[in-house]
Amino acid sequence: MAFARRLALILSLTSMVLACQPKQEVSAEPKKAPKKDSVKADKKEGAKTAQKPEAELADPGKFLVPFAWEAAKDEPLALTRQFLGDVFTDNQAYMEHGDKFFAAFADKQTPRATVLTCADSRVHTTAWDVTPENDDFVVRNIGNQVENAEGSIEYGIEHLRTPLLLVIGHTGCGAVKAAMSDTSKLSAPIQKELEHIHLPKPTPGKTPESAWAEAVIANVNNQVETALKHFGKDVQGGQLTVVGAVYDFRNDLLQGAGKLTIVNVNGNSEPERMAAFVEAISGKRDEKNPQDKKHGKSGKKLDDASAAAEIAEQIAKLHHSVEGETHVTAIGEKHAAKHE
Ligand SMILES: [Zn+2]
Repeated sequence: MAFARRLALILSLTSMVLACQPKQEVSAEPKKAPKKDSVKADKKEGAKTAQKPEAELADPGKFLVPFAWEAAKDEPLALTRQFLGDVFTDNQAYMEHGDKFFAAFADKQTPRATVLTCADSRVHTTAWDVTPENDDFVVRNIGNQVENAEGSIEYGIEHLRTPLLLVIGHTGCGAVKAAMSDTSKLSAPIQKELEHIHLPKPTPGKTPESAWAEAVIANVNNQVETALKHFGKDVQGGQLTVVGAVYDFRNDLLQGAGKLTIVNVNGNSEPERMAAFVEAISGKRDEKNPQDKKHGKSGKKLDDASAAAEIAEQIAKLHHSVEGETHVTAIGEKHAAKHE
């Protein structure tokens, strides 16, 4: 710990000293790195090296490790340094968990859920699991798509034997928005990455925001369907439940910012069924926490069943069926029962 802090201090002091000097780059690998005054010089050299053998071009020594930093705070190098500085600090703090904490899962992972979610930086496991370590086997890509990560998902389900596949989409999803419009101007890799987002045409008269939220739900429903095609046998055998949910940090679904809303269970998305599902889970929680019951956010006294039904009704109003497909939702509530 002391060493890392010292290192961070040295790096910090070094950067302060160098920040006062003219901009320059210094290689961390002087033996391998070609003698060049700057990255710019390196780039100029690029034209000459274009015909060199591939192995030589791939030499990591061609890229310089930056030690002299930026002149302005918004330069990429500055942002990188700031982020990594935070990483070192946060990692140091995380190590305070201690050996016992890490030893608990050092030799084997035993997650209870395979979680497929979007790569969006605003979406993180801590929104639904305060202790995701060794609990959430997380697979991420833009638009939380099953087919883009089939191997990883299969690993979680078939090898780690997680009894739950949780597909979590989110409001404000850029991948869904991109898929809603013309993707032909996007790069080939991104177009390919969006291939498995198939959306129904928006309901006429919807506001763009509402159509977007609707598309997020439709995508989750589609991804659950795709998962069921791959892992239907496990579901049939009772070894797996596939749950689709939407994490709503924008409060587009009007259930409160940050709410995780269940929209699909094993291919079912009818509001009544979702409400019943949530009620069943809530019932388990209430057995442990009777005090937890009957107090909604608004302060109104509602039992869980009627609260879920009321919320399902509200969401149903928000999301009418699109081209014969039912979209609606009920509410999932995060429970703390697992670590009790
Ligand atoms: Zn997204």
